[in-house]
Amino acid sequence: MSFSDIERRFADMLHRASEASSSGDLVQPPIVPASVYWQPGTPSGPHQYGRWSNPTWDALEEALGALEDAQTLAFPSGMAAIAAALTPHLRPGDRALLPSDGYGATRVLATEHLAAMGVEIVTAPTRDFASAAVRAGPYGADAERPFRLIFAETPSNPGLDVCDLAGLAAIAQAQGALLVVDNTTMTPLGQRPLDSGADIVVSADTKAIAGHSDVLAGHLSSRRPELIAAARGWRTAAGAILGPFEAFLVHRGLETLELRFERMCANAALIAERLAEHPKLLAVRYPGLPTDPSYRLAKVQMRRFGFLIGATFASEDAAERFIAGCRHLRPTTSFGGVHSSAERRARWGDAVPPGFVRLSIGCEPTEILWGSIQEALDAL
Ligand SMILES: *Cc1c(COP(=O)(O)O)cnc(C)c1O
Repeated sequence: MSFSDIERRFADMLHRASEASSSGDLVQPPIVPASVYWQPGTPSGPHQYGRWSNPTWDALEEALGALEDAQTLAFPSGMAAIAAALTPHLRPGDRALLPSDGYGATRVLATEHLAAMGVEIVTAPTRDFASAAVRAGPYGADAERPFRLIFAETPSNPGLDVCDLAGLAAIAQAQGALLVVDNTTMTPLGQRPLDSGADIVVSADTKAIAGHSDVLAGHLSSRRPELIAAARGWRTAAGAILGPFEAFLVHRGLETLELRFERMCANAALIAERLAEHPKLLAVRYPGLPTDPSYRLAKVQMRRFGFLIGATFASEDAAERFIAGCRHLRPTTSFGGVHSSAERRARWGDAVPPGFVRLSIGCEPTEILWGSIQEALDAL
């Protein structure tokens, strides 16, 4: 796979308005707080009602769409984008495959809400995802019960296991399933699920894309117009829309994504390598470590190895003391911010050891950040 055009795409995204602009035009998107638009007689024009469209969303959707190389819709959270990717396509009796080790709220949406409407939800660990999908394929043991939709998250959050996207796309196609990929952990700069054959990509832009821990947002992209139409129809009907001020914030964050993402991934690669050698840790997961179970696939399908690290301490107490003792780690949930953060995922019930800490590596100067991590480790 070639990632060569993503840097050009990013630069073009930053300058996309240049050709259409003339003297005195705005260079950045305006925040347009409008519920209604001038609309006499027969409805016409680009904007008619605030739940249907908004000029500030348009700017954000254009920018994200330029990066994804696909039509894009903005949502008020990652979960709103995921709901729009799943709900319009699943009917009673349909089967859907989801990761058992992915983002918890996606599983809640599926097992508590979609299942209650008659959708059969099957879960499998990300590491075995392709074989679970193959079972429902043309020659599999469950061939008479194909999936209608396969939802993958890779690297999985928080375990950082990886599944083969191009392989999954072929398996999904063979059984007539839609392949939806949650690309939150990598962003379009780190991994290109649509290029690997996914039908829909979704992202929690709350994380690295907005990047400043001050706004929730999400997006959904697809190169198939009918899938965009379905998601747009869902958004308009369900009313889960982004506010114009939030759209502006996400757009502003997006413009520095490349700079932040490169620093975050470079910081994480170096810190993961050093953590892996530190005697206070029982285990370290990072897809970029050659010894990591995710490494082989990550090298093929990811352009960078990401900014998340899984670090397992000997106990809950050691993990909490580490987090509290490191002056450059914010003790927060979520990830992808400018500021490095850390949390023990077992506190939310994730199926990980009590001493497992998910580190989200931020943009701090590398050696300063490592220095404070090392100091906190040595003090344990
Ligand atoms: C955070 C997250 C979401 C949900 O995003 P929200 O903006 O909190 O709704 C979905 N998927 C993954 C992988 C996430 O990390």
